[in-house]
Amino acid sequence: MGETEYGRVAVMTRPRELEFAEYPVPAPGAGALVMKVDRANVCGSELHIWNGRHPVKKRGGLGHEMVGTVTAIGEGRGTDNRGVPLAVGDRIVATYFQTCDRCDQCLGGQPNLCDNAYEFFGRQPEEAPHFHAAFGTHYYIHPRQHVYKVPDGIPDAVAASANCALSQVIFGIDQIQLRYGETFLIQGAGGLGLNAVAVAKERGTKVLVIDGVEGRLEQARAFGADHTINLSETTSVEDRVAEVQRLTGGRGADVALEVTGVPAAFAEGLQQVRRGGRYLVMGNLSPGATVPFDPGYVTRKALTIKHVDRYEGRYLWQALTFLQTHQHKYPFDQLVDAIFPLDGVETALEKSLAREVTRAAIVMNG
Ligand SMILES: [Zn+2]
Ligand SMILES: [Zn+2]
Repeated sequence: MGETEYGRVAVMTRPRELEFAEYPVPAPGAGALVMKVDRANVCGSELHIWNGRHPVKKRGGLGHEMVGTVTAIGEGRGTDNRGVPLAVGDRIVATYFQTCDRCDQCLGGQPNLCDNAYEFFGRQPEEAPHFHAAFGTHYYIHPRQHVYKVPDGIPDAVAASANCALSQVIFGIDQIQLRYGETFLIQGAGGLGLNAVAVAKERGTKVLVIDGVEGRLEQARAFGADHTINLSETTSVEDRVAEVQRLTGGRGADVALEVTGVPAAFAEGLQQVRRGGRYLVMGNLSPGATVPFDPGYVTRKALTIKHVDRYEGRYLWQALTFLQTHQHKYPFDQLVDAIFPLDGVETALEKSLAREVTRAAIVMNG
């Protein structure tokens, strides 16, 4: 046996306080894998955690949107979830959660709502096998997490957002049944919103995007948005509703997607959707953030409102196939506008919170 190898992991001791901890890199148990994290993005939900506004996570490891390289393979884990053989040195992506296949949600056909999804994600780093967060040198993948080998043509910068933003968006868009020829209104041009633009364009829809930052709207147009509305120019809800009415022949959007995390956006979205339309709400998750709204919109307009929590593991493969086919058509490699080393996690989180950067990535050996 060689010398024990140690890995590092960023640990939030309480909101907006970060430390680093070192632990021996574990050997994977049966069916498990250990990977070296190559790149991890700062996702919107990290900011909720960092800010102390996440419903569940109050301290511990951070980061869940990542790509890495296999360093050790546990007994019996010879392949990824498509049956492709895995070897040390392979680039992989993994779901940041697992499904237990035993709880009521899993057995009821909604594995994305699995009661035990965060059994490891929510575990504190001091508990072995320690490495359950992406802002660290290593990451431990348990047997029930989906794993896929990353096709050679997809660079890390593009693959890193597959296991959260892109999978989430494809699953959500499937669940809300976005159809060819429909008009799709996206509220918020952050990571989820921009990925949604690309997916919606491939579904043959007309895409409208609302955001308050011109640079983000510019990115939305680069991703194929047909029309953008700037909140800081069209400041009243009435004017924005009028604008969407104008762009949709007086009908309103067939489908809307909320990915802002701002309660007021939800009340506005109800007004933007046409009669009989569908509304997918994904951004608002902080408890206690409320907004007055007219529930009569739901009944008078016969709206369908839906949220999707996480995604089914197989969607991670769909995300990779989407990238393999369309990565050059959309500027996926431009999604990240600032790169930090592992030691710069705190700066990355603070700058993201202050909106000085739109989307930050941590590159471990950068
Ligand atoms: Zn995420
Ligand atoms: Zn379950």
